[in-house]
Amino acid sequence: MRAAPLDPTPEADSLLSPAARGELPVQATLRRLEQEFARTLDTAPQIIPQAASETEGAADPIYVTRPFLPPFEEFEPLLRQIWQTRILTNGGPFHQELEARLSDHLGVPQVALFNNATTALIMALRALDLTGEVITTPYSFVATSHALLWSGLTPVFVDIDPVTLNLDPARIEAAITPRTSAILPVHCYGQPCDVEAIAGIAARHGLKVIYDAAHAFGVRHRGQSVLNHGDLSVLSFHATKVFNTFEGGAIVCADEAMKDRIDKLKNFGFEDETSVIETGLNGKMSELNAALGLVQLRHIGTVLARRQAIDAAYRQGLRGIPGIRCLDFAGDGAANYAYFPILVGPDYPIGRDALYDALKRDGIHPRRYFYPLISDHAMYRTLPSARREDLPVAAMAADQVLCLPIYPDLDPAIVARIVRRIALP
Ligand SMILES: *Cc1c(COP(=O)(O)O)cnc(C)c1O
Repeated sequence: MRAAPLDPTPEADSLLSPAARGELPVQATLRRLEQEFARTLDTAPQIIPQAASETEGAADPIYVTRPFLPPFEEFEPLLRQIWQTRILTNGGPFHQELEARLSDHLGVPQVALFNNATTALIMALRALDLTGEVITTPYSFVATSHALLWSGLTPVFVDIDPVTLNLDPARIEAAITPRTSAILPVHCYGQPCDVEAIAGIAARHGLKVIYDAAHAFGVRHRGQSVLNHGDLSVLSFHATKVFNTFEGGAIVCADEAMKDRIDKLKNFGFEDETSVIETGLNGKMSELNAALGLVQLRHIGTVLARRQAIDAAYRQGLRGIPGIRCLDFAGDGAANYAYFPILVGPDYPIGRDALYDALKRDGIHPRRYFYPLISDHAMYRTLPSARREDLPVAAMAADQVLCLPIYPDLDPAIVARIVRRIALP
């Protein structure tokens, strides 16, 4: 299924239509995108403070991502306000406003901000009073499973679906035991999980569902935010993510009672001035991070449109290269172009690691997200569910994946360079 454009502003339209229609040959498309980018940068210097060409010489290393920052002048008045009020944290005005704005923007009932997604995951598990085993994916960032170990829960790894690279619902049911209390899936790369199947399994077996939605900011599926599925969803606003507050995260939940419990958990478990009712943590987001989030949110439409243009350019350029597979968006709604993973298959002339090294020699630094599998790390590999033979799809993906650079001000000329290198390794 094709991803619907996010925030279809006129600017996004002019950036996207040629590649999206697939009418032009690769080079022409890339050239066109380059021109469109240049025009956007000319006409909207206040939106993107630094033209990519000023900061990305051919010799500069290109990393898998480069955090988006709004113009400093937009942030400055909010900083002054913090200096004036001396309200630095503990649910200050920027924190409150960002929670409200995000719940509006994302289309979700409740948002509880956190200092990062890892703390948020640990508090989410606590808020649902889980025990015993939790079924999860081995194909993710290690924080997903670490949150389980920190909570005294046992991860049970289940293989992933070969198309979406998300937890395979058909395998979840077989892994359920009397000790299972929840499922912790990941919307990997912002690809929606099979949320309906997972909801069905959870309902049949009385399990909770927590989505690690660290990659899924702004993703929509079948007419609503993908974050509205499961009992809780956890977002990350880390510097490397689509929407960043330097460090940050959030739990999305359905009702005020749950948000109230989460708010107490992230504040040491304080009920009021003198009573502590839970073993909480310090998971609070500071006013500095929240203020930045408010300014970042003004630019999210542009950020996503630019990511979409890069995504379209890669797809166009890589089409037809034998042995290279791009992941199609699995959702029925808006994607967020958070990552650009390719799978380097056996038909490609060289192996994934050889391509990785070749690109690095050219100053391009892709990342092997997610290699190794979580289940291959020392603290997990002795678990019965960690056997690689039982996780063949995840093992294949970990051995073949390469995430190519994608970020809002990535120069399309560099995309063209990367495509050429992959075409002629
Ligand atoms: C980034 C990430 C996290 C951790 O987020 P932090 O905000 O850095 O703690 C958790 N899970 C996944 C899948 C991630 O990619």
